[in-house]
Formats: sequence, C-alpha cells, structure tokens
Amino acid sequence: MSRKSCVIGAGPNGLAAAIVLAQAGMQVDVLEAQSTPGGAARTLELTLPGFQHDFGSAVYPLGAGSPFFSSLPLSDHGLEWIHSPAALAHPLDDGAAVMLERDLTETQGALAIDGPAWGGLVRPFVEHWSNFAPEILGPLRVVPRHPWLMARFGMVALQSAQSVARRFRSPRTRALFAGLAAHSFLSLDEPLSAAFAVLMAVSAHAVGWPIPRGGGQSLTNALCSFLSTLKGRVITSSPVQNLASLADYELFLCDLTPRQLIEVGGQRLSESYRRQLGSYRYGAAAFKVDYALHGPIPWKSSDCLRAATVHLGGSFEEIAASEKAVRGGQHSDRPFVLLTQPSLFDHSRAPAGKHTAWAYCHVPNGSRVNMLDKLESQIERFAPGFRDCVLARRVISPSDLESMDANLVGGDIGGGVVDLRQFLFRPTWRHYATSAKDIYICSASTPPGGGVHGMCGYHAAETALSSLGRR
Ligand SMILES: Cc1cc2nc3c(=O)[nH]c(=O)nc-3n(C[C@H](O)[C@H](O)[C@H](O)COP(=O)(O)OP(=O)(O)OC[C@H]3O[C@@H](n4cnc5c(N)ncnc54)[C@H](O)[C@@H]3O)c2cc1C
Repeated sequence: MSRKSCVIGAGPNGLAAAIVLAQAGMQVDVLEAQSTPGGAARTLELTLPGFQHDFGSAVYPLGAGSPFFSSLPLSDHGLEWIHSPAALAHPLDDGAAVMLERDLTETQGALAIDGPAWGGLVRPFVEHWSNFAPEILGPLRVVPRHPWLMARFGMVALQSAQSVARRFRSPRTRALFAGLAAHSFLSLDEPLSAAFAVLMAVSAHAVGWPIPRGGGQSLTNALCSFLSTLKGRVITSSPVQNLASLADYELFLCDLTPRQLIEVGGQRLSESYRRQLGSYRYGAAAFKVDYALHGPIPWKSSDCLRAATVHLGGSFEEIAASEKAVRGGQHSDRPFVLLTQPSLFDHSRAPAGKHTAWAYCHVPNGSRVNMLDKLESQIERFAPGFRDCVLARRVISPSDLESMDANLVGGDIGGGVVDLRQFLFRPTWRHYATSAKDIYICSASTPPGGGVHGMCGYHAAETALSSLGRR
C-alpha cells in the first residue's frame, strides 16, 4: 500500500507539493476551501459576462523561470505562455515611457547613458539564470552551489534600492528601478529592496514576463491535470478546520500561512512552535480593481501598448515616498500602481474588440480606505480618458482578497513581510518543518516567498520525503 498524504490548499505551492509527493509514489489528496483550485492563480468572471479576470497573479516571470514547473510537461496539459513584445513599460510625465525590453542589449541601448551600469548589474545573473534560479528560489544555503554568483548577488541584494539606484545617472533609469523594487512591499531605503528589483529585471531578460493564454487559471488547470495523471486528487469546497479531523493521512503539507497553521494544527503543534508562528509578521496589502474596458487603454505613450505590465508612479522619489508611507502604516495620495493589460496579447480574455485590465496599489495591512479615486487618478495621469473606457469595474479590497483566499491575510499578497528576519527565518528557523514530524508548511510564507513559482511547495515536499527516508 502506498502511503497517504494530504495537502491543504490548492494554490500553486500546494499543487507543486502534491505533484512532488505523487511523483514519489504517495497517494495524495488536495483539500481546497474554495470552489475552484488555484488560490491567487485563478481566473474569474469578476465584472461582466465574457470578461476573464485574474483574481490574483497575472504575470509569471518566476512561473516560466521556475526550475520545478519547467521540469513538468505543462504544455501537454494546456499551458501556453504569451510574451508581450516588451516586459514592462514605465511611463513618465513627459509623455514617454522607459521600457524594460526582454532583450538585455536592447534595454541597455534604450537606457543610453545608464546602459553599461544596467548591464553590469544584471548580466551575470541573466547569463547564468539556470544556476541562479535554483539558488534564489529556495532556502538560503550556508554554502551555495554557485558561491561566486551568489556572493555577487548578495553584495547587491542586501542593499537598499535607494543605494543601488545611485549607480544610475538618468532619473528615467532610477524610476524604472524604483518600480521594480516596489514589488518588495518594502520601503526603498530598506535592505533587501534592491534584491527584488534585480530579480525582477534579471527574470525579464532571462525568461521574460509572460502571461498564460486564458489567464492564471490555465497554469493551475495544467498543474491539476498533470497531478491527476499521477492519481492525485483535488477536492474543492473542502475547508480544513482542524487536522485532528483528518485521521486517514500520515503526512500533511499545509499551503497555509502561520496564522491559519496555528488554528488548523491546534494541539498537534507544540506551544513554543505556535508561539514562534504567532510572532510572524504580515506585510502591506493590495487594493485591487478589475476593469472591463471598451477599448485599449489610451496611453499617452504608445509604447505602453507593447507591454503586458505597466508601472505607474513617476519618478524614483515619488515611488519611494509612496512605498515609505505604506510601510509606515499610511495611505499615499499618489500611490504607486501596478497595472496589467493581458487582453492586448490574449484575445481569449474579453469579447471581440473589448479589453480587461487590473490595477492595484499598496495600502497598510487590513486597510479599509477606498483608494479607487487615487488609483484611477494615477492611471489618468498617464492615460487621459481612461475612465471613459471603463464598461465595468470591480473593487477588491484587502478584506475581499482574504475572503476569496484565506492566505491573503489582511490583503497581504506575499505571504508575509520579506525583511531581513523573515528572509532568513521564514516562517521560523525550521522553514518547512514544524514541531510535529508529520506536518509541514509549504505556502509563500516559506522560502523563497511570494510569487507563482511553486518552489515553496517543491522544497517542502522534498524536505518531507527526506525525513520519511524517501530521498
Ligand atoms: C492581487 C494579486 C496579484 C499578484 N500578482 C502576482 C503576479 O503577477 N505574479 C506572481 O508571480 N505572483 C503574484 N501574486 C502572488 C502570488 O499569487 C502568490 O504569492 C501565490 O499564489 C502564492 O501561492 P500559495 O500556493 O502559497 O498560496 P495561494 O495561491 O494563496 O493558495 C492558497 C490556497 O489555500 C487555500 N486555503 C487556505 N486555507 C485553507 C483551509 N483552511 N482549507 C483548505 N484550503 C485552504 C486557499 O483557498 C488557496 O486556494 C499576486 C497575488 C495577488 C493576490
């Protein structure tokens, strides 16, 4: 008889963990609270019939570059990556946009005076992506497999975005760098904020920032379909309240954040471990709006139509001020806005001639402030007439996010702050293991953290299999 395991939560990390266990010959049931699998990688009709919106994630540099996902035959299960001509557009008030092209040399050319500095910063990691990705998308090793590469990354990564941006002479390049660093949800003068900027830029040049045809759900469906070939089952509408009620299983992998693990694990976890989990800190939240549009967004810069992702926030200083305010528990009057416009490149997202977009800005965790007007003012600033294009909109507040996916605690979309402490001890010094030898945690609250890459699930399942003597 093969051993029976249970994965709680069918987000990308839960599904990755389930696949690793099933590949090792275990029977796997995945219990998912919501009626559709995918967590923050689901596509739903959130506005009008025929308009398909990504509820959470939309653009997948780390999904396409994930060493684990890349090892699976996901294209045989319906996954198709679409690359917009450019990875990212960052419009500025003069009406032009700074472009992050997929091609590094082209980007260097466009950044002109800063081209050499940009290349010096990212090229070593772009050229060695196949060595770099497994190192960066896992727990920190005391002795990395590629020590020189990682030492080089560490020297930049531990700095703040503000200090690394001093390498650039043009305010345009600094603005581009600020938008990339703001993915960290950190203040741009904090250590590690540069790491995010560099990783985002490197992934753009090494693999691109693709979207899946049909939306994030296509990636989820491909993972579920492949899992079913290994006899793994995904059982939806099955919220787990307490592990004690699941007597049939001898191993649990929890695609949950620490707060939920305390509840679900209950007395199965030691008091001191629960205390450690209790001190885990969640990060700022997203205030998100999904749009059904009657046409493409009327950008001042037509270059913005070449990129699936657009960063709206102007200069380095303005983005830094917005992120600093949020980190300090305030709301920014001119928030940094991340926008995706997938239907320009994937016609399956909207009825013919119509479009979808989503945009979000950062707000303090659990915020109840309605940011709609401020968010749309930022879009209008770079695309006058945007509001006239809106057929329907759906506001998704931090509490809406959490009600649609319990892992998005207080609207935190990254599974917890990634400051120095929670980078090293995520969620505790044990990483994937817990105080119970049959319970593991595999969500974005473990290394390497947020993003759709499945590597938290992969490493958690590998750790569990090792302790069972199956590795
Ligand atoms: C608005 C938004 C935009 C984002 N944009 C991007 C992006 O463009 N690119 C990118 O790479 N990442 C993006 N992310 C982040 C990314 O989606 C997450 O980091 C990733 O989905 C984390 O995967 P996970 O499996 O750890 O958790 P989740 O995807 O959150 O999945 C957790 C699952 O567990 C289930 N669950 C929770 N509690 C229980 C329970 N008690 N019983 C049973 N099931 C339970 C939930 O319903 C959910 O299905 C975004 C996220 C959001 C919300």
